Amino acid sequence: MNFGGSITLVFGPMFSGKTTELIRLCDRQQLAGRKVLVIKYSKDTRYTANDEVSTHVGHTLPAIPTDKLFSVSDAALDAEVIGIDEGQFFPDIVQFADDMANAGKHVIVAALDGTFRRDPFPSRVIDLLPRAEHVTKLSAVCHICGRNAPFSRRITADTDVEVIGGADMYVAVCRHCFHADVTEGLKVDPKSRSPVRNMLTVPEPPRSW
Ligand code: ADP
Ligand code: MG
Ligand code: ZN
Repeated sequence: MNFGGSITLVFGPMFSGKTTELIRLCDRQQLAGRKVLVIKYSKDTRYTANDEVSTHVGHTLPAIPTDKLFSVSDAALDAEVIGIDEGQFFPDIVQFADDMANAGKHVIVAALDGTFRRDPFPSRVIDLLPRAEHVTKLSAVCHICGRNAPFSRRITADTDVEVIGGADMYVAVCRHCFHADVTEGLKVDPKSRSPVRNMLTVPEPPRSW
C-alpha cells in the first residue's frame, strides 16, 4: 500500500459520453507514457469485439473483458492507470476500485449512476462516490424534447435491471420526459434503430425551462 492512487468517477445516463470520456482520459495517460489497462464488461458486445471498449459512434480502445474485476488483479497491479467501462455491472467494483487506489493506481470508472428506474445498481457503484477524488456527472440530450438529459429511460417492456442495449432499448431523458407518459412517442424507427418522436403523443415540457 502506498495510498498514492486515486479514483475518478464518470457518471451519467446512456448516451452522455461516459465511454468517450473514459477513452479520452486513458488516451492522454498513455500518450504521457503511463501504463494503462482498460477493463470492459464481458457481456457488453453491443458495438464491438470483446477486446475493445466502444462508444456509440464507434471510437474504440483495446480492453480486456471480464465479469469479475478481481480475476484480472495481476494485470491491474502491473498497470499505473486502470480504466473500467460499464462499472455498474461489476459486483466487486467498489472493493476493487478502492483496493487498487490504495495500492497506488489511478482508477477511472465510467458508470451509469442509476438504473432505468433511477435506483442505485445492485453493485452499489454509487458507494464509490464518498471514496473518490474526482466525480463528474455528464448529461445527454433528451431524445424527446431536446433539453439536458441526466436520466435513462427504457423503451421496451423488460423489467430486469441488467438488459444491455443501445438506442433500440433506451433513451436519455430530462426530468419531465422521465415521468411523462410518452410510450407512444418512443417508437423505434426500424431502419435507423433510433427512437422517433411522435409529436401527437409527446407532451410539451413546461415553458419555464
Ligand atoms: P455512453 O458511454 O455514456 O453511453 P458514449 O461515449 O458511448 O456514451 O457515446 C456518446 C455519443 O453518443 C455522443 O457523442 C453522441 O455522438 C451520441 N449520442 C447519441 N444519442 C445521444 C443523445 N441523446 N445525447 C447525446 N449524445 C448522443
Ligand atoms: Mg458507454
Ligand atoms: Zn425531455
